[in-house]
Parts: sequence; structure tokens; C-alpha cells
Amino acid sequence: MPLAGYDLAMQQVPVQALAPDRFRPLVGAQPVARLDQAARTLKELLGPARVWNVNSTATGGGVAEMLQPLLAYARGGGIDARWLVVEGDAEFFRITKRLHNGFHGEAGDGGPLGPAEREHYGEVLRTNAGELAASVERGDIVLLHDPQTAGLVPAMAAAGAVTIWRSHIGSDRDNDLVERSWSFLQAYLSEAAALVFSRPAYVPHWLDGDPRVHVIAPSIDPFSAKNQDLSPATVRSVLGHTGIIRAEDRSGPLTFVRRDGSPGDVDHRADIVRAGPAPGPEVPLVVQVSRWDRLKDMQGLMEGFAEQVVTGSRAHLVLAGPNVTGVADDPEGVDVLRRCVDAWRELPDGARARVQLVCLPMADIEENAAIVNALQRHATVVVQKSLAEGFGLTVAEAMWKATPVVASAVGGILDQIVDGEHGLLLQDPGDHEELGRSLRRLLDDPATSERLGAAARRRVTERFLATRHLTQYADLIAALVDRTPPSPAKSF
Ligand code: UDP
Repeated sequence: MPLAGYDLAMQQVPVQALAPDRFRPLVGAQPVARLDQAARTLKELLGPARVWNVNSTATGGGVAEMLQPLLAYARGGGIDARWLVVEGDAEFFRITKRLHNGFHGEAGDGGPLGPAEREHYGEVLRTNAGELAASVERGDIVLLHDPQTAGLVPAMAAAGAVTIWRSHIGSDRDNDLVERSWSFLQAYLSEAAALVFSRPAYVPHWLDGDPRVHVIAPSIDPFSAKNQDLSPATVRSVLGHTGIIRAEDRSGPLTFVRRDGSPGDVDHRADIVRAGPAPGPEVPLVVQVSRWDRLKDMQGLMEGFAEQVVTGSRAHLVLAGPNVTGVADDPEGVDVLRRCVDAWRELPDGARARVQLVCLPMADIEENAAIVNALQRHATVVVQKSLAEGFGLTVAEAMWKATPVVASAVGGILDQIVDGEHGLLLQDPGDHEELGRSLRRLLDDPATSERLGAAARRRVTERFLATRHLTQYADLIAALVDRTPPSPAKSF
């Protein structure tokens, strides 16, 4: 049904059911039994109620990446978990991107967040809420993800749903811009039954002592196309086929396993900006995979690499992101990529030949994931040189593959890596010399790389897999349902 006033309709994303049992060989019997118990308790408390998740994109970025497996395992555990995507126009996503940048303490496009923006944000979400209300019933659980959906809290609470707002972002800093974003959203959150943050540091001061606050760290799915094991031959042929490295064997394997268990093939090629031929499979690659977002600092990494690493090493740099037309809720991507290409043209010849900018195909999200998987496995070093980072799934993804990581000491990356134990942290993400030292150290010292990679894999196994994440959600929702008295639905 199109949304009134907008020619839009909320999209329901299909989710399959996967048995959480498959985690047993990875994490052991006890965490899986604990999850199983939590799911059974929740299922009994929920009865026929559904668990709706609402976010702003079905593909691209960390939230979509996590929802797909979490909801699939929830369904596999017997919970009726569903996923809807809010619709908005370009102005709505400009406003929410401004909020997003603000939560990172950044000005973004420098535009206002005043009464006109409030009005537009509210109006778009009212239209979405109308459509959502046709599906949500009293006693259902509604999990709203990030600023794009916070404005739905009052309507969902009024509909009698147990409404949770889950923030995936936050800032190490507290400045006027962070305050401005909070004052925009704060009023919408008063009726939420729970407010979930990725780390304690992201809980704003105005929620100090509020019993509705919970901290749940993100996770990755080790079985997804992004993280599943790939043979070295598959890694090389996938990267050769997409054009990122020199293709040696045109008949090599390009297969991965889709979430539904069926085989997938890497078919599309990447759009690549590069001078000269692709590097051979033996050339060490430094890789960053990110959305084309200024805060990921792809350009800074390129300039730092050109300045500090090109001389004295034979490594190449690969900056890979989604094809910019493929991420609906990220209006700044085109501009950030364009600036990166302009900066690449300005590099000295020798450096330009060692850097490639790669736009990965987005036509098939699992194919995209398999290419990212191959890149993170083939990389000699994975970098995440973010200026700010909510969590940084790309870091956990590389750590899971035991690829050594150099990453900024910001945001959720600090929860993942203890410097020198599970990877190397950049204390000042803007310091090219520190970047160069860390990269050269790992490029030149395979023993250190191996030690850090092995410890990184253990760290992710212990802390950042979906089993832990789901157990925390199940416990939280069960506690909320248990203490929510049945009440007649209010109309809105
Ligand atoms: N990603 C991807 N394809 C791309 C670029 C990024 O699948 O072309 C994925 C990446 O592997 C990670 C997610 O998008 O799973 C990004 O999450 P992260 O927490 O690193 O950053 P966010 O985009 O949420 O700020």
C-alpha cells in the first residue's frame, strides 16, 4: 500500500529460519543451551505475539547486516520475528543523516535541525506509523532501530506494543552537535519500554540512572556469506573474477553458500578506479571495506598509505565500498566517493598505481558479502581508519578471519581490540606516521600478524557472535513482557 502523501510503501524483508544449533561446534554446548532456554522462555511468554524489527534499509551498513541473521536464528528458535523497512523521501534521509552525523559529534552537511526538519521527520514517520499500525497488534514487540525510526515510538506504544528503541551509534565525545541530535529525538523516546545501546559510553547523560537503559554489543554471523570459510582457491578466483586481483585461473571456484543453504555464484564484476593492471595474487594487500562515508576516512587512509607505505613496501591498497547507488539511506555516498576519486587523481604516479578504489556490486547482497569475505581473507592487513565508529562490524569480520587489523582507537573498536593483543590501534586516526608504522610492522612481520590474528579470532568467538547477542535480546524482551500488564490498545 503506498504511503499517503508519499508514493512509498513500507517494505517487509523476507527472513528465513535457521537453527541456532549450528553454533555448537564454534562456541561449545553451554552457550547454545543457554540460548535455547532463553528462546523457550520467551516463546512461552509471547504466545502468538510477534517481534517486529524496523530499520531504514534492507541492505548496506551494519544494522541490515546484523538483522538478517539475528532474525533468522530467532525464527529458528520459534520466535515470530519480522523485519520492516521505513520509507522516506530524500529530505527525510538528509535529516536522519544529519542526526546520525550529530550523534558522532560531526556537523555533516551543516544543515539545520529546526522546526521545519522536525515537522518533516514527524510527518514521514506518521505516514509509516499508519501503515505499521495495520500489522502490529497489542502485545507485539516492536524493536525500532536508530534515529530513522525513533519517531515511531509514540505510535507503537499507543498501539499497545512493547516498544524498544535500539541505538547502534554513539559518540566518544559530547559536544553541541551530539546535544542537538539528542534534543531532536529525546521527546519521542519517553514512552519506550527499553532503550538499548551498543556500549555504556553511548548512553546520554539525560538517561543516567534510567532503568530502561540496557547495553548489548553487536555481533557477526560466522555462517553468513560474509564470514563463512572460503578455500584459498575460491578467495583468489572471486577476487580475480571481480577484477580486484589478476585472474590466474578463469575456471576457478566462485561458489559460496547462501543463507538458505543453496549454492551462490559470484557473477558480477566490481567497478574499479585503478591505473594499470590488477596486482597479482602474491602482492600483499592492505584493505579497508566501508560505506563511502566521510567518517570512515577512506581518503585519509589513501593519503597516509601513499605518504608512508608506498616507499619501502610492495603492498597495494584496496578501498572497497558498495556501489553508491545501492544504499538508499546514505545520501552522502556519491559525494564521498567522488572526492576520493579526485584525491586519487592527485596522488603521485607511483602511489596512484598502488591504490585502487573498488565499488562492489550490490545487485545480490549475498554475492556482495562473498566478495567482501574474499577481500578480508586475502588481505595481508585489514584497516579501519574511522574517525568515529559506532561498533565497526568490519573489524570483527576481519578478526574472525584471523586477518590482522589496524584500526582507530575510537568507539566500539575499543571494545573489540586491546592494542597489541588482538590488533593494532591508532591512537590518533589523523596521524599518518602512526598509520605507516603500524602497517609496515604488520607487512614486515608475519609472526606478529599471525599472533594478533589468532588472538583476534578467539576474541570474536568469545564475545561477538550472534549466540551471545540473541540470548541478551531474548532475556530483555522476556523481562519486559513479564512485567507489562495487558492493556487495551489506544488509537492514534
Ligand atoms: N559492507 C558490505 N559491502 C560493502 C561495504 C560494507 O557488505 O561494500 C558491510 C561490512 O562488511 C559491514 C557493514 O557493511 O558488515 C558495515 O558495518 P560497520 O559496523 O563496519 O559500519 P556502518 O556501515 O554500520 O557504519
